[in-house]
Amino acid sequence: MEAKIEKGHFIESIIKEDIKNNKNNGKVVTRFPPEPNGYLHIGHAKSICLNFNMANKFNGRCNLRFDDSNPAKEKQIFIDSIKSTINWLGFEFGTPLFASDYFDRLYDFAVELIKKGKAYVCSLNAGDIKKYRGTLTEPGKDSPYRERPVKENIKLFTRMKNGEFDEGEHTLRAKIDMKSPNINLRDPIIYRVKKASHPRTGDKWNIYPMYDFTHCLSDSLEGITHSLCSLEFEDHRPLYDWTLDALETPCHPQQIEFARMNINYTVLSKRKLQKLVEENHVNGWDDPRLPTLEGMRRRGYTPESIRNFCNVIGVSKKGSRIDMGLLESCLRDDLNVKAPRVMGVLKPLEVIIENYPENLTEELTARNHPQKEEMGTRKITFSKQIYVEQDDFMENPPKKFFRLGPGREVRLRYAYLVTCKQVIKDESGNIIRLICTYDPETRGGNAPDGRKVKGTIHWVNANDCIDAKVNLYDRLFKDENPEQGNRDFIENLNPGSLKELELCKLEKSLINARPGKAYQFERLGYFCLDSKNKDSGDTPNRDPVFNRTVTLRDAWAKMKKR
Ligand code: ATP
Ligand code: MG
Repeated sequence: MEAKIEKGHFIESIIKEDIKNNKNNGKVVTRFPPEPNGYLHIGHAKSICLNFNMANKFNGRCNLRFDDSNPAKEKQIFIDSIKSTINWLGFEFGTPLFASDYFDRLYDFAVELIKKGKAYVCSLNAGDIKKYRGTLTEPGKDSPYRERPVKENIKLFTRMKNGEFDEGEHTLRAKIDMKSPNINLRDPIIYRVKKASHPRTGDKWNIYPMYDFTHCLSDSLEGITHSLCSLEFEDHRPLYDWTLDALETPCHPQQIEFARMNINYTVLSKRKLQKLVEENHVNGWDDPRLPTLEGMRRRGYTPESIRNFCNVIGVSKKGSRIDMGLLESCLRDDLNVKAPRVMGVLKPLEVIIENYPENLTEELTARNHPQKEEMGTRKITFSKQIYVEQDDFMENPPKKFFRLGPGREVRLRYAYLVTCKQVIKDESGNIIRLICTYDPETRGGNAPDGRKVKGTIHWVNANDCIDAKVNLYDRLFKDENPEQGNRDFIENLNPGSLKELELCKLEKSLINARPGKAYQFERLGYFCLDSKNKDSGDTPNRDPVFNRTVTLRDAWAKMKKR
């Protein structure tokens, strides 16, 4: 899987060139800088893989830095989740770093800017700041406070820090150029008063640095060489560079932008995912239908499949919507190799083998993987009463239906050939049971007389199978682009994205299943035990819950072709 040749992308070329020219003494230091205001999604995986892979490939280092300069929305649970998710993805980050650890130094940098005449305390209110800023087509106007003397600025900034002002009364702004065609350079705010308690610094600060100011300086303080970020920061790069040039900083990292990942049939933005969770369209942040990494993990995605997907889609300057089918095919490639095969019946139909001895239980040998001998075999049991899939029987089957029908013979996987003799129905005409006969000469599935039996179906022994609940998932949204034409993506939710099947029957060996371990249920897809399965203490005796990670084939691609 991982062996797929990773094409060198443009960022890799830049880094190689820098190493060749001995820029940064040939060192490579990157960082992944999440804001701890939500859970990571598959889009973040692109950035994680890129940053860690570049560091690993060139013997460098990648820091995990929490960009926690906005105390209002940041929480410890997000920090914990982000750390464990990155480890799960397979990356090592050493001690996590926090932008908030630099608050003292950032404050000193702000003072340095003021002293150099490159920042001033502005007393315009938010509305006026906006008015003075101008628009994309009109230049801005200088704030009346722009020429405040340094001494007064220092005094006011100190008082801001000491909590003497209310939120919005004053801001600290970089003095750059109100007429710049780039609005980010029109005297951006670099500090604001915020009377909020911070998860790490508590009530120490009454002012907090803005993202643009925090980010470039944090990069520099950590000795980052290549600051890789998504394209929306392209217009912020001049501010990134201005700030580092204006101050005496340890180093000047190079910001390089790349296109964000977008995938069809889903949304990748913390804000939108939050809406889905908060309005209960899904069941929590780790709902297996969500593209959050916790949700994908719970659904049964492997870290290898996600890393491989990120490799396959590559890194470029041009954004595009990637087909969900590609992600799923990376997943299938990985699971196909790893997942042992088992049998499970999702919609059980009872079968009585009328000529099979009463009270006999036979052990049969089943292979755990059709291609991988080394995965071995296991014993499965067979008896007079078994379950097959309701969908594998038709009372009036068309010719091409090679499964069970009245009078038809079919192969039970790893067991015998059986023929349907009788269909038993209840009073309302529902089929409740099939009466079959088996051919004792066909143990293992082959007829000694060489007669051809096309269909093979899966089954479980009614005597020792386990009852389970199985969740089947479909696309979360109905359309490729849930937000086409600016519509509310909530209206595009697929009402059939979750099907919950009760009383499924699974072979006995699955009693040992553990979350995170994938199984192929033959003919049905890849499944895993739900990780929330065991920890809901309130109903300790309920049936285990399995999630279908992905089907065996891409049913959607087929439907489109039709
Ligand atoms: P969202 O828009 O989902 O809230 P974000 O950009 O606000 O995401 P951050 O925590 O700031 O989330 O992101 C950390 C890093 O992950 C940033 O460098 C950001 O560029 C990157 N990132 C976020 N979403 C994507 C994506 N869809 N594709 C690639 N990189 C992404
Ligand atoms: Mg962001």
